[in-house]
Amino acid sequence: MKIEKVEQTRWNGEDLKDATFGSIFSDHMLIAHYNDGAWQEAEIKPYGALQMFPSLHTLHYGQAIFEGMKAFRSKEDDILLFRPEQNFQRFNKSATRMCMPEVPEEMFLDGLKKLVDIDKQWVPTSETSALYIRPFMFSSSNFIKAIPSDDYIFIIIMSPVQAYYTGEVNVKVERNYTRAVTGGTGAAKTAGNYAASFFPAKLAQQQGFQQLIWTDAKEHRYIEESGTMNIFFRIGDELLTPPLSDTILAGITRNSVIQLAKHKGLTIREEVIDLEQLCAAYDSGALKEVFGAGTAATIAHVSSIDYNGKVMRFENQEDSFSDLLKTELQNIQYKRSEDPFGWTVIVESE
Ligand SMILES: *Cc1c(COP(=O)(O)O)cnc(C)c1O
Repeated sequence: MKIEKVEQTRWNGEDLKDATFGSIFSDHMLIAHYNDGAWQEAEIKPYGALQMFPSLHTLHYGQAIFEGMKAFRSKEDDILLFRPEQNFQRFNKSATRMCMPEVPEEMFLDGLKKLVDIDKQWVPTSETSALYIRPFMFSSSNFIKAIPSDDYIFIIIMSPVQAYYTGEVNVKVERNYTRAVTGGTGAAKTAGNYAASFFPAKLAQQQGFQQLIWTDAKEHRYIEESGTMNIFFRIGDELLTPPLSDTILAGITRNSVIQLAKHKGLTIREEVIDLEQLCAAYDSGALKEVFGAGTAATIAHVSSIDYNGKVMRFENQEDSFSDLLKTELQNIQYKRSEDPFGWTVIVESE
């Protein structure tokens, strides 16, 4: 791999408190081109602008996918990745769905580790912050015929971040718009899914909500996800989350929460969740906690859900499952405790 380093770092130990999530980028990026049916040698070079023509394929047809992951700094100053092979595998699944070439493991995983190592001073030190890593790929041929691109560009950029949600998360159940449909692209991490979600999310924000709960496309009756997080409900002392399908993104945090919950002896079930059932559980006092799970937010307690004007509120529980799972997860991610699952990967320094 070709490596060109910056002459001087831009890092000034910036206080991230006032920065918008993902708006500051580390010194370097990894970039690789797919031309003539093959990936060319990847390169690590200073973060900077790309040149493009107006006919760039992705601007017209949106063959674009991405991943979101984090590097954490332990007290001992180890730099840790969390289940990175899962992001690699999901990336290639997204690529297949969007008719894009798969990326080789060395380029994604070894490239990533190399890049993180080079920019390791950008991994923040505070207890809840991390270096957010964004691998992505887009179509880069220059033609506007509506066929898949011949050329692609794979890039990894990185951004030091704090926790995503700082205040309350009040959500509204969306009953008009749909994030994903059966047979669609909901299970792929593709740019267009996000583009389609911004308008309904903006309407919800204008009504004072931080996020939406997406429901099924047909009846708007079954729970799918909350914004860009998978969603969990605690009814009595059981946890519930919708099962994976082609309308739900298979979150790595979701999978980790399920494994952690089982490890902690909690009952957790993946089953279809009907809104009427949730309302009844709320009315009877059995629905005690709701939380979202995703890389950016980690685990976010949901304060209230508005379903058709019915507002369900969730006070912090003394024996909160979401607090327990969040602590357990972060303890593993920041290497504050044992990792019985073998999830963390240390980035070895050169
Ligand atoms: C990325 C994403 C998630 C969370 O996935 P993680 O692997 O846990 O970060 C959930 N839902 C959607 C729609 C997503 O794009």
